[in-house]
Amino acid sequence: TPLIKKVAAIPVALYGGRHAVTMLPGGGIGPELMGYVREVFKYAGAPVDFEVVEIGDENTDLEYALTSIKRNGVAIKGNIETKSESASVVSRNVAIRNELDLFVNVLHCKSYPGVPARQKDIDIVIIRQNTEGEYAMLEHESVDGVIESMKVVTTSNSDRVARFAFEYAKKNGRKKVTTIHKANIMKLSDGLFLETSKRIAKDYPEIEHNDMIIDNCCMQLVSKPHQFDVMIMTNLYGSIVSNVVCGLIGGAGLLSGKNYGDHYAIFEPGTRNTGTAIAGKNIANPIAMLSASVAMLKHLGHTQHAELIQRAIEKTICEEKIHTPDLGGTAKSTDVVQRIIDNILQADIRPW
Ligand code: ATP
Repeated sequence: TPLIKKVAAIPVALYGGRHAVTMLPGGGIGPELMGYVREVFKYAGAPVDFEVVEIGDENTDLEYALTSIKRNGVAIKGNIETKSESASVVSRNVAIRNELDLFVNVLHCKSYPGVPARQKDIDIVIIRQNTEGEYAMLEHESVDGVIESMKVVTTSNSDRVARFAFEYAKKNGRKKVTTIHKANIMKLSDGLFLETSKRIAKDYPEIEHNDMIIDNCCMQLVSKPHQFDVMIMTNLYGSIVSNVVCGLIGGAGLLSGKNYGDHYAIFEPGTRNTGTAIAGKNIANPIAMLSASVAMLKHLGHTQHAELIQRAIEKTICEEKIHTPDLGGTAKSTDVVQRIIDNILQADIRPW
């Protein structure tokens, strides 16, 4: 039984079969990528209305965003830059995940055939604790020149992440779950995370369970990534491992990540980059945010629209090989989006 008591959810906004979804463009390339999502949704006829919330430096913006997500239940999000280096200014990205108790991040790293990459045929699901660990944001200077930073690991959150992973494996026909940790050094914190996953694994005898130390995991990912199926890990390892795997299969511009809690879900590019340096140049790869929008449509139950956009993406980048510079191509962001829209308008890829 889950250790955290569930509270009743607020009913999500739904008007005449259309879903209202909060859109948080964030900084850098976020706004342009959101523009592409809106364009593609228009041509795909996706029944979603976006409530756009810009988050500036005011705390009221954050409050407004949280209220909107609670009302709509679902959000699509770019990365929000935290400009201040002051310890008192917390990352709004972390604040949103914590406030909404989005305890798990799911990154399905599946290779796109035809897209140049360091490794081929990867199919790994990274399941990351999303609200505690090294992201507890509890740092202080105990005496002059000595900083202490707390890594918080709880039984309740380790329990629900592990259970989420095994349930995911079961539902999606996955064979193996690997717990990633550093329990040989962080005996209590990572020890608890590992022990909890071993305990939960006993409830799923049909799924193989093993564990691996994070440093070895990084080496294995680069040299023999095909041994991995579903992986679970604490927050910071999740951030690093996600970037390693995205790097292996095509970089920051391809994959999307899903953040789930008991009540709310947020979809975003998998590596959570701001992309400040490439903003406004029409070179950002639109696929990561479009994939996030496809995952969002599936979550809302609009599976046919999701399928239509996914097929158009695959046709564009796998078959026609229209690639932005991050994938070695010469296409502009808008060329890729235009081709996806052209493909959406072709009858042969319609799922209906
Ligand atoms: P910053 O906030 O300073 O931009 P960051 O941690 O968000 O830093 P970035 O530098 O934005 O990380 O992103 C890391 C790398 O990934 C950069 O080289 C960036 O250009 C690239 N990148 C991120 N998103 C995309 C995208 N959609 N298309 C192409 N490249 C991308």
